[in-house]
Amino acid sequence: MRFFVTEDRICGDDITLEPADAQHVSRVLRMRPGEEITVCCGNGEACRCRLEQVGKNEVHARILSREPFSNEPSAFVTVYAGLSKGDRFDYLIQKCVECGASHIVPFTSRHCVVRLEGADCGKKQQRYARIALEASKQCQRSRAVTVGEIVSFEAALEQAARADCGLFLYEKEQQKSLSAILRAAQGTRYAVVTGPEGGFSEEEAAQAQAAGLASVSIGPRILRCETAPVAAVCAIMYQTGNFDIGE
Ligand code: SAM
Repeated sequence: MRFFVTEDRICGDDITLEPADAQHVSRVLRMRPGEEITVCCGNGEACRCRLEQVGKNEVHARILSREPFSNEPSAFVTVYAGLSKGDRFDYLIQKCVECGASHIVPFTSRHCVVRLEGADCGKKQQRYARIALEASKQCQRSRAVTVGEIVSFEAALEQAARADCGLFLYEKEQQKSLSAILRAAQGTRYAVVTGPEGGFSEEEAAQAQAAGLASVSIGPRILRCETAPVAAVCAIMYQTGNFDIGE
């Protein structure tokens, strides 16, 4: 049985499972001290552990051995996504994590329907980070996918431009396709900038190009705001061999 903990739950060789996992171990699996579990520590290691203390809501295990465990992609993809409404953004996070993105940065832009003030930003970011952590566990990532603070469009462009391959998904792009850009891409750090439900303005597209991002089309169909980044992440994973299983 494999569990996932963030590094703050590890103290020396002692691991404390999260409450939900502790309940699963004690009440559902009815495991006892002495039995062994595998714990992914979110830092690229998998630990073989022996259960030491099994309580209803608290389980402690002792690390017996640590093996490098990485099913992380060789390409580090950061998705910069315009905030969208309700569960669309939840879906975007979850599917980008499953398909291989490593970091997600929400941003606000001109056509964002969602408007957040002050404390709401922090609460939203924490919620998004929880969704990314749960998705990381579910798909057995060896590192927890993180979610950055909600930033402005300009800040997102500045960060995205530092990648080896910075992609601006633009629904009105008529010249350059994603596949051509990916075939020519060098390096391992990718940035995907994708718009909210309302898309990008012409000015925002010009800002992105001025920032050095490649404006690309992902085909003649208009994808939903939660679909487009997933398609781009999948294309990057395919192109970089990260959908292979080491044939
Ligand atoms: N308001 C736009 C419209 O109706 O034409 C749709 C925006 S779309 C729902 C949200 C975002 O997905 C876009 O801003 C873009 O980043 C991305 N996107 C969707 N389809 C795309 C395509 N065919 N090529 C490139 N990007 C696309």
